[in-house]
Amino acid sequence: MRWMDNRGVRYLQFPSLVSVPGVWHGIFTRWAYNDDGSRAALNIGLNNGDPQGQVQASRHRMLDVAGGQTAIFARQVHGADVAIWDRAPEVQSLRPTPSAALSGDALVTAVADSALVIQTADCQSVLMVDPQQRVVANVHAGWRGSIQNVVGRTVQTMVERYHCNPDGLICGVGPSLGPCCAEFVHYRQEIPEIYWSYRLPGDYFDFWRITQDQLVAAGVPRKQVAVSGMCTRCNPGLFFSHRGEGPGTGRFAAVIRLTA
Ligand SMILES: [Zn+2]
Repeated sequence: MRWMDNRGVRYLQFPSLVSVPGVWHGIFTRWAYNDDGSRAALNIGLNNGDPQGQVQASRHRMLDVAGGQTAIFARQVHGADVAIWDRAPEVQSLRPTPSAALSGDALVTAVADSALVIQTADCQSVLMVDPQQRVVANVHAGWRGSIQNVVGRTVQTMVERYHCNPDGLICGVGPSLGPCCAEFVHYRQEIPEIYWSYRLPGDYFDFWRITQDQLVAAGVPRKQVAVSGMCTRCNPGLFFSHRGEGPGTGRFAAVIRLTA
C-alpha cells in the first residue's frame, strides 16, 4: 500500500485501485496532524466514548479529504445484508457534506460523487471496483460477516443489479486483525466447520485468506484481490483495535467513491 497525506490527514491506498480511472479511495488512520505538529484522534465512530461533536468534527475532516457530494454510512450490525445507494443526495445534517445511513454491512453504488464509508477497528473493510460497469462497493467484514460470506453476497448483488462481471473486479482488503492476532479459543462454537481449514496452530484463524478465497469463489481472479497485510492489533500507533483496546476504542474509516 502507499501512503498519502492531505492537510495532515494520512491515508493508505491500494496501487491496484489507484490505477483504475475515475475512482477515489483511501483508508484513514486513527490520527490527524495539525499544523503545529500536534495530533488529534480521528475517531469517526459514534457511541465509542468520544463526545458527538468531536466525532462529527473528525468525520468532517475525513470527508473533506475523501471528497464527494454525499457520504453514505452503513448501519453495521455484523450481518451480510447488502445496501444499494441509487438515490440523489439526501440532505441530512453532516455539513458541508450531506450524509445518509443505510442498513447493511455492505454498500454498493453506481452514483458518482457518493463516498461509501465503512468504519472498522479490527474488522476488514473490503473495497471493490468494477471499472467496466462503473460500480463500487465497500464491505464491513468482521468474523461474523466473514462466516456469512458478506463479500460473496456483495459480488452477487453487483452481478444481479449492475451486470458486473466478477472477472473484472478489482478488490482490496484493508488493515484488520491478522492471522497473528485472530485467536478464537471457542472456535468450535463460533466458527462453522467449513472454515476450520483456515485454523493455524494455537487456534488462530486466517480471515484474510478466507476473504481472498470467498472472492475467488465468487469469480474474482486471485491476482485482482490485494490484501494490505497490515494487522490492526499489531499497529496500535496507526489504527484502532477492538482486540487491543477493548469495545470502547474508536473506529477508523475506509472510503471509496466514483469521481464525477
Ligand atoms: Zn497481529
